[in-house]
Amino acid sequence: MRWGFIGASRIAERVIGSLRQLPGQELVGVVSRDAARARQFAAEQGLTGADTDLDRFLRDGRFDAVYVSSTNEQHCAQTLAALAAGCHVMCEKPLAMSVADADRMVSDAAARGRVLATNHHLRASDCHRQMRTLIASGAIGRVHGVQVSHAVYLPLQLQGWRLDQPQAGGGVVLDILVHDVDVLRFLLQAEPRHIYTSAAQAGLARGSVEDSAMSVIEFDGNVLAQLHQSFVAPHAVTRLHVLGTEGNLYAQGSMTQAGAGRLWLRDAQGERELPVQPVNLYEAGFSAFIRACTGDGAPLASGLDGARAMATALAGLASARSGCRQDIA
Ligand code: NDP
Repeated sequence: MRWGFIGASRIAERVIGSLRQLPGQELVGVVSRDAARARQFAAEQGLTGADTDLDRFLRDGRFDAVYVSSTNEQHCAQTLAALAAGCHVMCEKPLAMSVADADRMVSDAAARGRVLATNHHLRASDCHRQMRTLIASGAIGRVHGVQVSHAVYLPLQLQGWRLDQPQAGGGVVLDILVHDVDVLRFLLQAEPRHIYTSAAQAGLARGSVEDSAMSVIEFDGNVLAQLHQSFVAPHAVTRLHVLGTEGNLYAQGSMTQAGAGRLWLRDAQGERELPVQPVNLYEAGFSAFIRACTGDGAPLASGLDGARAMATALAGLASARSGCRQDIA
């Protein structure tokens, strides 16, 4: 497939590295708001095209697929333009900045017969895939509770718009909570219905942007999930604990970009660690997307999945503002 990259971003560099591992991918060009950045990105990443005008970039059916990894407020308009140009789209999370925009993206892709996927890479984790299978098989009985600790220290090079630009979709809720909600929807195969969130500033974020948040989410099936996201937690290990009536599953270090982690099952037979295979999460996610574009299966996370996670995050932000539990649209 011929690829265009919308956004000269850091994550695009990582994705390009993964796409280069997959056969048959032609990585063509990048579009950026800044000509010098576009040229530098193209040169560093071995792309032939560098542009600053999206319509010109997308002309003449140059691309089969695009990867949208700009700041969040641009995702919707850029995705709609790419779909109109006939491209399949892998869009970064959060899919958009409003439920109405996300709905438009999903329905437009469907109307045009294009694949719209969301880059919720954590679905590719072997740890999470094993947890989903074990939960579905009833290995821990009926799930009633989940605890997620997804606290990190935001690397220096990412301490930009995420910390002080609400209009660009900054803040830990739109950045990390969306991933966590997607993982829980994937594990539980259930929908989130209500959310209560408290948000705070703990040292990095400025203005109205939060760098720490704790939420309680009620999922269908009477499952209560408790989630913590943070940008200000150096040396923390991510933790994911799923509690069932017959046992529980506990993962450490799985909620990262690294595609590793450790997993334990505890039940009446005692505790055992389950082997987890390392996975390149981006390679796996883009591989599934590429297959979906040729009519073979579905992307790991669809546009609709991205929309559900984003709607939950927006309800969380509304809850943090109002102090009240919110229904999820
Ligand atoms: P970056 O800050 O690296 O890039 C975002 C945009 O900022 C780029 O598109 C670029 O705009 C502009 N930009 C890049 N470098 C500079 C610079 N030196 N000076 C000024 N502007 C610059 O963001 P990320 O790569 O961290 O995130 C991009 C998107 O990807 C977000 O939506 C984020 O949520 C998502 N993401 C997803 C991850 C995942 O695992 N699924 C992981 C990390 C991010 P322009 O296009 O105009 O050049």
